[in-house]
Amino acid sequence: MTITEREFARQMDREDDLADFRNRFHLPRDESGEEVLYFCGNSLGLQPRSTSNAIERELQKWAHKGVAGHFSDVDPWYSYHELLSEPLAEIVGARPHEVVAMNTLTANLHLLMVSFYRPTEKRFKIMIEGGAFPSDRYAVQSQAAFHGFSPQEAIIEVTPREGETHLRTDDIEAAIEEEGDELALVLFGGVNFYNGHFFNLQRITEAGHAAGASVGFDLAHAAGNVRLKLHEWGPDFAAWCSYKYLNAGPGAVSGLFVHDRHAEAFELPRFAGWWGIDPESRFEMPPQFQPQPGAAGWQLSNAPILSMASLRASLELFSEATMEALCQKSDRLTGYLLELIKQLPQRDFEVITPDDPDHRGCQVSMLVHHESQKRYDKLQQAGVVCDFRRPDVIRLAPVPLYNSFEDVWRFWKILDEST
Ligand SMILES: *Cc1c(COP(=O)(O)O)cnc(C)c1O
Repeated sequence: MTITEREFARQMDREDDLADFRNRFHLPRDESGEEVLYFCGNSLGLQPRSTSNAIERELQKWAHKGVAGHFSDVDPWYSYHELLSEPLAEIVGARPHEVVAMNTLTANLHLLMVSFYRPTEKRFKIMIEGGAFPSDRYAVQSQAAFHGFSPQEAIIEVTPREGETHLRTDDIEAAIEEEGDELALVLFGGVNFYNGHFFNLQRITEAGHAAGASVGFDLAHAAGNVRLKLHEWGPDFAAWCSYKYLNAGPGAVSGLFVHDRHAEAFELPRFAGWWGIDPESRFEMPPQFQPQPGAAGWQLSNAPILSMASLRASLELFSEATMEALCQKSDRLTGYLLELIKQLPQRDFEVITPDDPDHRGCQVSMLVHHESQKRYDKLQQAGVVCDFRRPDVIRLAPVPLYNSFEDVWRFWKILDEST
């Protein structure tokens, strides 16, 4: 049997231990009631069927107990965020006290830069990947300007070599070394949102630290998608959103990581709020802010419980499936898509995501050389939900929790027939 036969995909699904997780999600349908082929988990992950119950439980608590819900016997709101630390830590390879769920992603990047972007006249530059997500670029530009530096001088973007589609780690290291003692912060994505390149975060961390800079990562496209070992790799901080691969719903609460070596760095400047202090003394309302140790010491406000309930429901699925098993399936599922694309006429499509599973997650981005808009429209008409970046890049993410090999095969068939 060859990979281009539908039966091959079906056989792969039969052999897949994680196949049943698909039934634990709501799959969107089109106007005629047909399930769509959903490949947009890199943008908004699907809703677990358990989410509404998890939210409903908190609504009931509110309805029946009112303010007493903060100290109810079951999952009191006062410490609700603590329930998320362990499962989140598993996702990013951290210790529970190194992570906390709070705020939203860009807000957290700013808060973390308050602590870890401490520019001086000589050391003031921030290095980001070329083609970084716009919100990250605005965030670093405004941080540089806030400290009185010209963003044009302060922000260094590393771009791929002429004719290449993604960065080489050697080139990133060389760029870091070149900026040397002018570099205050290296802030990279974990997986680039555009081309799906999973950066070598360990080597970037080591190079940044060797240059005397702080190192932080935006893991929006990495958390829940690729194997992460933040504690071991040693960046100073990271943040991510939970509505992409973490399936916690639109605008859901973000996650934040601060490395253990800063757990008791109480002298670090930070913007403070009452949720950052020791929970035992919070209601004594001490006049001075004294942060609690660990990532939780960066919290400002009491927790958005409904959004956290939704994240919690989703993280239970991750704990059950385990990140390692999901990544193994993901390697195969996206590997299958890449192999299928190679069967198409070369001159039509150029995959700009690295082939090697160590350098990508599930997302595949392809340049469409001819009639890209027309092809994208045809995909949409055939019920495929994926993403189009004008002028010519189609992005899709086969997500191991809810996409099947047959989904991938069907996508490929529709693409093949889209001329
Ligand atoms: C999705 C995404 C964001 C979105 O930021 P929000 O503050 O959650 O709106 C930011 N950065 C990157 C790299 C992203 O992929």
